[in-house]
Amino acid sequence: MVIAIDGPSGAGKSTVARAVAAALGLRYLDTGAMYRCVALASLRRTTPAAELAAGVQIELGERVLLDGEDVTEAIRAPEVSARASQVAADPDVRRELTGAQRRLLEHGDWVAEGRDIGTVVAPQAEVKVYLTAREDERARRRAVELGLDAEAVLASQRLRDARDETREQAPLRPADGAIVIDTSGLTPEQVVARIVALAAGR
Ligand code: C5P
Repeated sequence: MVIAIDGPSGAGKSTVARAVAAALGLRYLDTGAMYRCVALASLRRTTPAAELAAGVQIELGERVLLDGEDVTEAIRAPEVSARASQVAADPDVRRELTGAQRRLLEHGDWVAEGRDIGTVVAPQAEVKVYLTAREDERARRRAVELGLDAEAVLASQRLRDARDETREQAPLRPADGAIVIDTSGLTPEQVVARIVALAAGR
């Protein structure tokens, strides 16, 4: 089984996807971490992002390793977030990472989180969820999580959302058949319970 969880940043995808995976005993795939690794590599090197996407070694798990280096914290820096949505607009980068993600999802049962899991990576997913929340609420959550100013987070979030939603390749949008959940007034536990119930119904 694949449970696809897509949506904009700050909608609660990571917290919810991890918890759903733990509750159902499924593996967890954070596709954003892959784009972030390519972004970090491209901030450090002049090599074109598409070459990096094809050449770097990304290992996901408790810790995120980029060519063997632990970059778990480094990939969460604001400049990496901004760069990630730029490299993610490159069709060659997307082709590489989409291919890698599909190969992973072929084996075993997964909760996969990202922007295009239900639309592109795994349109065959048994459960497709699109998590969203009010813009100010999403910025507030990320500001708390990262210890940053909410206004600054809101400004960079708007840029990133606009890039993710308007790019030609795999723009951010709910997949056909996706259940849209607005998490604004909900606790993570309520959202997890809803997705677990959806999975049980399949
Ligand atoms: O989810 P996260 O915020 O870590 O993703 C970082 C960036 O990677 C997003 O802003 C988006 O541009 C890109 N991304 C994507 N497709 C995915 C996952 C992430 O384009 N499946």
